[in-house]
Amino acid sequence: MFSGLSVKRNVLLAPYTTFKLGGVADFFAIPKTWTELNCLFKEANKYKIPIYFIGNGSNLLISDQGVRGLVINFSGCFDSISISASGEEIIVGAAYSFSKLTKICLKLGWKIALGWVGVPGSVGGAIKMNAGTVFGNLGHSVKMVNLMNFNKTFFMSHEQIRFSYRDTEFPPNIALCSVYLSNKYIEPQYGKEFAKTAIELIRKRNRKQPTQRSIGSIFKNPKKYFAGHLIELCALKGYRIGGAKISETHANIFVNDGAATSRDMFELCQFARNIVYDQCKIRLEFEVKFWGFSER
Ligand SMILES: Cc1cc2nc3c(=O)[nH]c(=O)nc-3n(C[C@H](O)[C@H](O)[C@H](O)COP(=O)(O)OP(=O)(O)OC[C@H]3O[C@@H](n4cnc5c(N)ncnc54)[C@H](O)[C@@H]3O)c2cc1C
Repeated sequence: MFSGLSVKRNVLLAPYTTFKLGGVADFFAIPKTWTELNCLFKEANKYKIPIYFIGNGSNLLISDQGVRGLVINFSGCFDSISISASGEEIIVGAAYSFSKLTKICLKLGWKIALGWVGVPGSVGGAIKMNAGTVFGNLGHSVKMVNLMNFNKTFFMSHEQIRFSYRDTEFPPNIALCSVYLSNKYIEPQYGKEFAKTAIELIRKRNRKQPTQRSIGSIFKNPKKYFAGHLIELCALKGYRIGGAKISETHANIFVNDGAATSRDMFELCQFARNIVYDQCKIRLEFEVKFWGFSER
């Protein structure tokens, strides 16, 4: 199995996540070429081995038991960027840093990129999550995505992907390889004061971000509310289970104080969700992606 391919066995996943949590993957690979990625797909499909994709691991909670399958990390390929002469169109690989892309777009004068400031991760992860802020999501500028599954490569258009709040509708077991972005795809309808207000709010937001290991927001904001406000209303700021803690500065951010296990973090997530439901009758939806937990 996987002969001739650089696949490692029993690789600890914690270092590949911003939480620094998670057990081992049965198989782990960092493909360097399209062909290699394609061979990994074919082998995994042949032996019915589940495939997981990991970018920067900045939106993942992986169980202490890890995952039974092949984890493919994108840091070895798909990291190029090409910018059109007009500066209005960009083709960028899934492994490219989202914050680097944001800086480039801001320099090119893309207003929409103000919405992406301060969001870490890879472009692939940011597409999958439709990452962004109230000022705009990456999906707003996506024209088309180039994908691969076990037997073909193909494209999906903006409309087919159906971007929604921190979500997309890609078919399962699909690798995002590169994306075509356009500054003009969806024109943001911002007022004149937009840039000034956005920059002030971004500064404020960055001051609130805890510096400990986290994955940003645990929950999506429900309609008309902020998840962080609801958690704060339930007096849960600073609440901890083992080494997992609800941040004192932003209640929708949970941190690993260095001694947490994934189980601590998982239980803290479930606990906060249950308390908010009991006290506010609002069922919070997770933004974090869970890997290897049988409970959900
Ligand atoms: C300090 C901090 C602040 C944050 N602030 C924000 C914020 O303001 N707004 C926001 O939206 N997010 C925020 N996040 C969350 C995170 O940065 C985003 O969700 C980011 O887009 C995830 O990218 P990633 O590469 O880390 O994805 P990962 O965490 O590695 O993966 C996320 C999902 O994408 C899938 N995936 C990744 N790459 C590929 C690929 N190439 N092909 C197929 N599937 C893939 C994974 O399987 C997984 O389902 C924050 C995180 C941190 C740590």
